[in-house]
Amino acid sequence: MNEKIQSESNELDRVLEKVKNQGVDYLSNINKRLTSTKPVIQDKRRLNYSGLGTDETLELFNKRFEPIIVSSSGPRFWGYVTGGSTPASIVGDWLASIYDQNTQGVNGQGDISANIELETINLLLDLFELPETFLGGFVTGATMSSFTCLAVARQWIGKIHNKDFAKDGVTEKINILTATPHSSIIKSLALLGLGSNNIIKVNTIENNREAISISDLENKIKTLNGQPFILVTSGGTVNTVDFDDFVAINKLRIKYKFWWHIDAAFGGFAACSNSHKHLLKDWEHSDSITIDCHKWLNVPYESAVFFVKEEHKILQTESFQNSNAPYLGNPLNNFNYLNFLPENSRRLKALPAWFTLTAYGKEGYNDIVENCISLANLLGEYLEQSEKFKLLAPVRLNNIVFTLNGKENQEKAQLFLTTLNDTGKVFMTPTFFNNKNGIRASFVNWRTTKDDIQIVFEEMNRVIETMWVKPVDNNVLK
Ligand SMILES: *Cc1c(COP(=O)(O)O)cnc(C)c1O
Repeated sequence: MNEKIQSESNELDRVLEKVKNQGVDYLSNINKRLTSTKPVIQDKRRLNYSGLGTDETLELFNKRFEPIIVSSSGPRFWGYVTGGSTPASIVGDWLASIYDQNTQGVNGQGDISANIELETINLLLDLFELPETFLGGFVTGATMSSFTCLAVARQWIGKIHNKDFAKDGVTEKINILTATPHSSIIKSLALLGLGSNNIIKVNTIENNREAISISDLENKIKTLNGQPFILVTSGGTVNTVDFDDFVAINKLRIKYKFWWHIDAAFGGFAACSNSHKHLLKDWEHSDSITIDCHKWLNVPYESAVFFVKEEHKILQTESFQNSNAPYLGNPLNNFNYLNFLPENSRRLKALPAWFTLTAYGKEGYNDIVENCISLANLLGEYLEQSEKFKLLAPVRLNNIVFTLNGKENQEKAQLFLTTLNDTGKVFMTPTFFNNKNGIRASFVNWRTTKDDIQIVFEEMNRVIETMWVKPVDNNVLK
């Protein structure tokens, strides 16, 4: 046996204690850590022959990488849609490494990890107030969740054509209707051989909205002359957090035959807010739903779930079965995640979510979600009241999208953002919306407080002072 590994395994207590202390120190001081750095890393190294041992390796990590790691799970990292991690989720994540299970089936040789996953899916359905008629599983992110859902949709369309696309490949043109899909939907269509060019783009309600126009949707459906199609809808677009009208879409199901997918990567958490859950009304009638856990559930990366209606479980197994033998009988009689989603071997992905859901319950997530919504609104109000900024869309949930006020200042939006991000006090991301250069800030971290909003708004004012000029016509952006 390798001597280094053997001796370290005898000293695990000491080594892990060191890491625990470092982790506690990092998390306790995360408010002070920079949100951006300018790293210069020489990443072309040769492998050390005999190895440094864990202590020295940790020292090297601390010297080379640790000081320039950014506080992406801290309270003022508002770029993309970046969640944090709750204490319980970190415990679950550590234990997932320690127990190191390979989560596949529920009828294995005493391996209960898939049972934990099924239980966690039920807890999530409870959180989102979704019926138990959905089956679900854990994947790495919303991208793979939509990939999984759309793979089942593909098989569903095949069945209508009396084809088995999983076996024979996609031999028909597939129509995909959508208005404002996330980039990951395009990627999934490409991966699945459905072809992103087969998207039939449906208009939005108005120019400055991202929600689908129901009348245009119905017009486009009619041009298909009864052919089945896939409808990809948004439960919170990433720019302006616009929601498609699920009540109206559900009504269309009476007249037309389609697979209804909802990308609710973070917007699904509106279900945790009494004042915002109406945005999701009737979403339970969809065929499949994508939810990210590493966003608003605040568990560490990589974690997301898919929910697919139980009635499609045969199609799902046909799409993902890891066997050349023809499928026999009901897949739930011998349920195995191996035959149900893209990955084969998997870590116990559900454990961080199980811990955090069990530790904080409905009330905990109600608090996290309401807090984020109120902070987005607070910053939104500050920007509305300032003559120097302009919201590009109303605050609908937990994101704000804005630009610099005045046509004279439009070109400076990127400079403003870069200068602001360079302060290291906050991180936001650029966007382009309604023909304007915009900036997004997204609130999905339990740590963020009103103090953070104050700190950032002060910093924003300091930065904008240096570049903003008073517009001749104050309303010129409208
Ligand atoms: C983040 C996001 C995705 C992609 O999620 P990943 O976790 O990065 O794979 C998809 N859709 C929406 C609406 C998102 O916000």
